[in-house]
Amino acid sequence: MCAYLISIKTCLCQHIILYLILLENEMDTYERVLVAVDLSSESEVVLQKAQLIAGSNAVVHLVYVQEPMDNVYVGIVPQSAAFSGLGDLEAQLGEELKQKLTALGENFNLPSDNLHILNGSPAHEIHRFAENNGIQLIVIGTHGQKGLQLLLGSTANAVLHGAGCDVLSVRIGAATK
Ligand code: AMP
Repeated sequence: MCAYLISIKTCLCQHIILYLILLENEMDTYERVLVAVDLSSESEVVLQKAQLIAGSNAVVHLVYVQEPMDNVYVGIVPQSAAFSGLGDLEAQLGEELKQKLTALGENFNLPSDNLHILNGSPAHEIHRFAENNGIQLIVIGTHGQKGLQLLLGSTANAVLHGAGCDVLSVRIGAATK
């Protein structure tokens, strides 16, 4: 009888310890995750990995940053005739990008409030969004650049440097290129 009671007690203790471990792990998971996508076919791979890593109750924000078209040239040829009508073109492009982001979000059951198109430089805007929204993990894609590409830098590099939270860079394989 005594041995039976001891074995029940041991079993109970084991269950409590297991429960505490599970509870601790649950608390360790990411609750607010930012997934940066360039809206290419690779975006699904990045998003899939993010959902695997994020906790089941995590809030996932999908972010695309639209760079201003005149960003590169306006400093060189500020009055260029080529810039006239650029605003309309940019707005039209923004509309198409929004549709792509919405379709991607729907595929992954993300609420529309969590889909964001920001304007500016990708790394800067991603950092800013992360800070303002208490993001704990940023997920981005990377092609594992080597040589010249690495020297020139990539969005993944720029996001990694200066991020105030964890960053997961998902290696994009040759198959998805
Ligand atoms: P890249 O360095 O341009 O090859 O992009 C690598 C990764 O950075 C992409 O897989 C996305 O996760 C992210 N990224 C690139 N461009 C953007 C963008 N315009 N907006 C948001 N994320 C981006």
